[in-house]
Amino acid sequence: MLQLINFPHPTLRFQSKPIIRVDASLREMIGQMFDIMYENRGVGLAANQVNLPLRLFIANPTGEKGNGEELVFLNPVIRRSTGSTESEEGCLSLPGIHAAVKRNKSLHVKAYSMEGREIDMQVDGFLARIIQHEIDHLDGVLFIDRVSPETQRVLLDELSGFVSTHDSKQRQGMIPSDEQLSEQREEWLNRYCR
Ligand SMILES: [Zn+2]
Repeated sequence: MLQLINFPHPTLRFQSKPIIRVDASLREMIGQMFDIMYENRGVGLAANQVNLPLRLFIANPTGEKGNGEELVFLNPVIRRSTGSTESEEGCLSLPGIHAAVKRNKSLHVKAYSMEGREIDMQVDGFLARIIQHEIDHLDGVLFIDRVSPETQRVLLDELSGFVSTHDSKQRQGMIPSDEQLSEQREEWLNRYCR
């Protein structure tokens, strides 16, 4: 059963690896990712937010099950991105934290669907913001890395709260040790990326 992980879990800083095979259990896990995203009222979720070190993310800009389109992007790459726009963002791995983030207004994304079909989309608006946020995740980047230094100072206390929660959960064995986590990631990489 997949579980949402929070900052500063080390898998959130992992550079996710391209997927070379898709099987029934990966499709099943993608289904679980949608459940987790809807339960937490998100509009996008990257695989490393559920501790999978794989280059894949899901999105549904409506955030509602049964509404809008469920998008799955495997091995996404942003080609051309243009314009600049600033808007408030949050993240399921940093619950309660919101801050203004500058992003490109529109972009061209290439990826693969679960069925291996090529995705080639020109995107703008909210979906373009979601795609940039999620691809950042796959590169180990969080939206708090992209806020102004002033905002980072304001968020310092809240972020250190996340760090102490993580440390104490790890001491109590509720989160595996960093070594065990790295072994888990290796297993997933052997299964889907090598
Ligand atoms: Zn996020």
